[in-house]
Amino acid sequence: MLKRLLFVLLLLGLSAGLLHAEEAPRAVAIRTGRLLDVRTGELKSNVIILVRDGRIVAVGQNLRLPADAEVIDLSQATVLPGLIDAHTHLTSDHRSYGYHGLGLSTQRQTLIGVAAARKVLEAGFTTVRNVGATTYEDIALRDAINDGDIPGPRLVAGGPSLGTTGGHCDENLLPAEYAHRARGVADGPWAVREKVREVVKYGADVIKFCATGGVLSKGDDPEAPQYTLEEMQALVEEAHQLGRRVAAHAHGAEGIKLAVRAGVDTIEHSTLIDAEGIALMRERGAYLVPTVYVAEYIMEEGAQAGIPDYGLRKMRALMERRDPSLGAAFAAGVKVAFGTDTSVFPHGLGGREFAAMVRLGMTPLAAIRSATLVAAEALGMEKEVGSLEPGKQADIIAVGGNPLEDVRVLERVKFVMKGGRVYKNEF
Ligand SMILES: [Zn+2]
Repeated sequence: MLKRLLFVLLLLGLSAGLLHAEEAPRAVAIRTGRLLDVRTGELKSNVIILVRDGRIVAVGQNLRLPADAEVIDLSQATVLPGLIDAHTHLTSDHRSYGYHGLGLSTQRQTLIGVAAARKVLEAGFTTVRNVGATTYEDIALRDAINDGDIPGPRLVAGGPSLGTTGGHCDENLLPAEYAHRARGVADGPWAVREKVREVVKYGADVIKFCATGGVLSKGDDPEAPQYTLEEMQALVEEAHQLGRRVAAHAHGAEGIKLAVRAGVDTIEHSTLIDAEGIALMRERGAYLVPTVYVAEYIMEEGAQAGIPDYGLRKMRALMERRDPSLGAAFAAGVKVAFGTDTSVFPHGLGGREFAAMVRLGMTPLAAIRSATLVAAEALGMEKEVGSLEPGKQADIIAVGGNPLEDVRVLERVKFVMKGGRVYKNEF
């Protein structure tokens, strides 16, 4: 009996060992045609990247390949670090706006997120920050990805966004008799602190709130601040005390400045930032997440895509003044972290943001840095992701062509590895 038990235990141990061996990738050697060193801006030829147990162990030109290494041939490609998108809404899409969105259950939204997670990963985004879900569906999505149940990027998830009653982060489509409010609504410093605690309790990695009105919300003004300085300070202090960074949605110049003064870590959109706001952001070291392309998409394709009329009108009014504001912030050297706002435009098309940033005056290299080194810093993940260096996660992508000459090649990412596992290889 004892012998049999030992035998069973031995078998269990063996199979666990085998399973483990299958899950943990062996050593992988990636032969690259060209590798973009995002730190120096140099394109290096014939570099080999060695990966073991999901992490980069060496990067160099004359590396000896370990005998057990599986070789991946990317000698026809340009290799870069996995991209980082600091502003997405994976659990919503074009069906989520206007009255139609009110009919979507959180379960349905979670499933939108499952499909979106795969699309953004296959588009080359190996790390994504989700800033705004209806409730906690993005937390569930993050956990399912981390548990290996579904493919998806590393997900920094915020749960529901905090906002004022009637603000951009509330839900204003229903008349008063429904007494409906969004999950993240809280007014007053103490209510805001309590809401931060609640959102953290249910798993948020980051706190998102609305510091001004927005485009795709009914009845509010993108140029009007939402929350007082006192409320924003309480929110930021509470979040930082709990070890969470804060992302503030802000279009109008006054709301941007209030949020920066309150100590937020990232300003989302930042559409009408003025000279004083630019100086403040530089002084405080806050990151700007400009979401350039989404505004162009709304202007060009929003009507056919079902964006409500109030959204189209508000976008048009902002666009008249946006380009010089954002262009000035880029030129002044504000730290810019790449963000797309996909959901408003289709998940998987986030690469279009690169060309949009370049149109506003960034170099292709600066745009690529914003989606690698800088975004990693903005998310506090610079030790893990954002460059191809020993010790970091093996989050690696490849494209055909030279992204420094034509940044649009990043719209067609052909190879994706996340944590040493290959999710796409069209080479
Ligand atoms: Zn957004």
